[in-house]
Amino acid sequence: MILNITTTRQPATDLGYLLHKHPDKFQTFELSVGKAHVFYPEKSEEKTTISLLLDIDPIDMVRGARNLGGDGFALGHYINDRPYVASSFMSVALSKAFSSAMNGKCKDKPELVDVKFPLKVTIAVISAPRGGEMLIRKIFEPLGYKVELTRHRLDEKFPEWGESKYYTLELSHTVTIKELLSHLYVLIPTLDNDKHYFVSAQEIDKLLKKGEGWLKEHHEREQITRRYLIGLDSLSRQALERLSEGEDVDGPGDELIEKTGIQKRKETLHDERIKLVVEKIVESGATRVLDLGCGEGKLIKQLVKQKQFSEITGMDVSYHELLKAKERLRYDEMPPKQKERVNLFQGSLTYQDKRLEEFDAAAVVEVIEHLDLNRLKAFERVLFEFAKPKTVVLTTPNQEYNIMWENLDAEDVRHGDHRFEWTRKEFAEWANKIGKVYHYGVELLPVGDEVENIGAPSQMAIFSYGN
Ligand code: SAH
Repeated sequence: MILNITTTRQPATDLGYLLHKHPDKFQTFELSVGKAHVFYPEKSEEKTTISLLLDIDPIDMVRGARNLGGDGFALGHYINDRPYVASSFMSVALSKAFSSAMNGKCKDKPELVDVKFPLKVTIAVISAPRGGEMLIRKIFEPLGYKVELTRHRLDEKFPEWGESKYYTLELSHTVTIKELLSHLYVLIPTLDNDKHYFVSAQEIDKLLKKGEGWLKEHHEREQITRRYLIGLDSLSRQALERLSEGEDVDGPGDELIEKTGIQKRKETLHDERIKLVVEKIVESGATRVLDLGCGEGKLIKQLVKQKQFSEITGMDVSYHELLKAKERLRYDEMPPKQKERVNLFQGSLTYQDKRLEEFDAAAVVEVIEHLDLNRLKAFERVLFEFAKPKTVVLTTPNQEYNIMWENLDAEDVRHGDHRFEWTRKEFAEWANKIGKVYHYGVELLPVGDEVENIGAPSQMAIFSYGN
């Protein structure tokens, strides 16, 4: 990925002084997982462009589980877009290559530090989550940037495949170099959910330092802060508190206010569901429990409160969710004895895995609907044939209930990532078949308030081996 900064303020070669990079030199900086190169594709008194090119080594990333804070979290083991999109790597590279400029220093021409330059920045490419274009505009435009975005197709040869989440971003503004660099340093990684290093409380200091003079007043400061801290609640809260020190706090931010209606109802339903799952696992007499597809650890948090459980292990395919779980559980602050009980690891439910064996009970809460139907069979074997816990408590949405949710047509699935949703009959057929094939007794239960002819919002099956 490449970031270009162009100016037309004459003499445009002043850019070299400001960034402490001689226009005739090609310079290379080592990063933990590759290199950053700095060079000038064009230089004249009228117009000068400096490029920062990142050359991320995907092999280094795989070896570089060290970048992820140990504990077996290893995003790099997955094929990913890290080498190609601007992300937290870009921030690290910016601060390495242009540290003096970022700190507002210019040895040879100190008078330039406060000069506002007409600047154009091009970043190819940037990855943005759903609604990406709006997010990009919301975070850059209030700072005065003119934003131009070119969205890339998934594959130019197959236009029918549609658009990708990748953009080329062009920003224009008249600002000081220091301001520009601090904006880029904070805002580029907010568009990208995976930080390549472990996010700790130190990130708050970095964010507040680089955000000095602009973040506090930014209308989207809450969203920027949360995204920069990859959604980790307690860090975001601390950062926002520090940002608004000395100010009136005017209730919850926009993001919270937007969460009305359906989401609130889902929230309480989810709490209810988790309570029921805990109850059923406790009743089973289990001591060693597994939470498969544990997500951000809501169930684990409740399981930890039950003394009956001597070992609680969560698994998820998503590194990001596991980080959130670690945060929710305040894992790092747990006393050693508690820590011993809890274990989190990355894995997939559709591959046989020794680490899933010898548990008394497994929970699979709102997970199967995220699997492709043609992978369901693999999941069945992984859990019921190989891992074989004595009890399995599994929940999934009841498709018939969708009609009850606002904003949803009956045919729609509730969540963008649901691959299927079953009616009560479909779920019962599937569960009973599992029971027969793998010798488990099956009990079916509604989760949430039942409506006549429609059923409850969610449904549960409890499988007991040999019954
Ligand atoms: N059980 C949690 C999360 C449900 S969301 C809760 O109830 O709060 C579904 C979760 O399943 C996500 O965290 C997703 O990352 C995970 N998941 C999806 N496919 C998976 C797979 N093949 N193996 C393991 N986890 C998977």
